[in-house]
Amino acid sequence: MKKITIAIDGFSSTGKSTLAKALAKKLGYVYIDTGAMYRAVTLFAMRKSFIDTKHFDRDRLVESLDLIELHFEYNPERGFAEIYLNQENVESLIRTLEVSQFVSQIAEVREVRKKLVEQQQNFGKSKGVVMDGRDIGTVVFPDAELKIFMTASPDIRAQRRYDELKEKSENITYEAVYQNVVERDRIDTTREDSPLIKADDAIEVDNSTLTREEQLDIILNLVAQSVK
Ligand code: C5P
Repeated sequence: MKKITIAIDGFSSTGKSTLAKALAKKLGYVYIDTGAMYRAVTLFAMRKSFIDTKHFDRDRLVESLDLIELHFEYNPERGFAEIYLNQENVESLIRTLEVSQFVSQIAEVREVRKKLVEQQQNFGKSKGVVMDGRDIGTVVFPDAELKIFMTASPDIRAQRRYDELKEKSENITYEAVYQNVVERDRIDTTREDSPLIKADDAIEVDNSTLTREEQLDIILNLVAQSVK
């Protein structure tokens, strides 16, 4: 069957990566989590003390971008590719609320986006890829054969993320998670470079009341139509 590029964009915590992973598995495609790339750059910046709650030294981050090497390695036990920052597996370390609190500021930096977008375009060169993020259908792969834009109400999204973080026993409150989800959406939709917007030809899927299986069915039908 013809291989295509599938771009999945949408607001924070809409379940994009869960859907994208299931889709890639079903189709035998490569899955790339672009949010993980922005999160890994954020972890790098935090470790170098370029960013904290009081300051953000953009210039030093930009000067240091060549020191950041990112790649994905498939983990057969977990069934998806995990992210490595300078040869260290940081897949779990980037999922904390602390990283989430800084990531949208890092993702606003033009030079950061340029570096990551180039790498993402290389990953997708040979088709057969499912990529999720905020600008995949608009900037990274404007010619993707299938574009999905995922939405869900903010409280449902915050609740999902809260449950996920709680499972990892992070010491957090629902309110803090809700604030983070809303604040990231605000920064992501209003930034100058590649703001989060629905591409004209993207299909919107509101999954507030859909199960994972229902979502997967809907998207598999759309894939079948696209490869025809
Ligand atoms: O998808 P995830 O929630 O892990 O993404 C974390 C953050 O990375 C987003 O809130 C956004 O600021 C940034 N991001 C982006 N462009 C992408 C993917 C993620 O700006 N393609």
